Amino acid sequence: MSMQICEIFSSVQGEGQTIGTPAVFIRLTGCNLRCPFCDTKYSYKSNSLFNKEELILRLAAHNSDTFVFTGGEPLLQAKDLFEVIGRIIYLRKKQKRLTPSFIIETNGTILPTTRDSLTSTNTHIHYVASPKFYSDTSYSVDTVINLINIYDAELKLLLFTDTKNVDILYKFLLSIQSKIEPDNVITIQPGLPEGIKDIEVPKYLQQVFELYQDLSAKINFPTRFIVQQHKWIWEMNRRGV
Ligand code: SF4
Repeated sequence: MSMQICEIFSSVQGEGQTIGTPAVFIRLTGCNLRCPFCDTKYSYKSNSLFNKEELILRLAAHNSDTFVFTGGEPLLQAKDLFEVIGRIIYLRKKQKRLTPSFIIETNGTILPTTRDSLTSTNTHIHYVASPKFYSDTSYSVDTVINLINIYDAELKLLLFTDTKNVDILYKFLLSIQSKIEPDNVITIQPGLPEGIKDIEVPKYLQQVFELYQDLSAKINFPTRFIVQQHKWIWEMNRRGV
């Protein structure tokens, strides 16, 4: 049996609340959305089929203790993904090594089923739900809320400078306010517009930060403003970092 995987590389977690953690990234092929600002369009299609068993053995033998499954949308291959995670946990235990941490970065459109995501496996998984509701009009707020309430997902929202986006983001936060625990810390990440030049980024980030300050003053959730650090260590559009 095989899985569609776009790339595997070692890097540092560059975003969200696990920022700074060294990790192996497994980018799964395919996405059910087409966001105009997407910085991983190359992941929509790839010819790389990985033998599932070889992938499991390769990751279980790796010296990293953090694996980030990203995409694309990794939950499109949920059944295989949870099988891989379960087997890595099993093999690491057999090797008497530390149980690794797994991060699943999802666009928040798919809720894993209980059968896919076994409870014992889930305790080692940190979900990051990053809904792109301003580019996906069919968005289900309930799916995002369930990811947060059932799977304890970290909510990560992209903030751009256009007013329409700020309005949508604010309305979204108001709509979930009474439905999730008030101590959920929400990550606000500046979204970079397509084609922005490296030299233009600092000024742009300052503008987003000002919008963030206004936004955070209006809502009751604790938030963190986190810039994608891997784009500063390497170039803004470099692949495989
Ligand atoms: S959900 Fe993520 S990977 Fe999919 S199109 Fe949007 S930005 Fe790209």
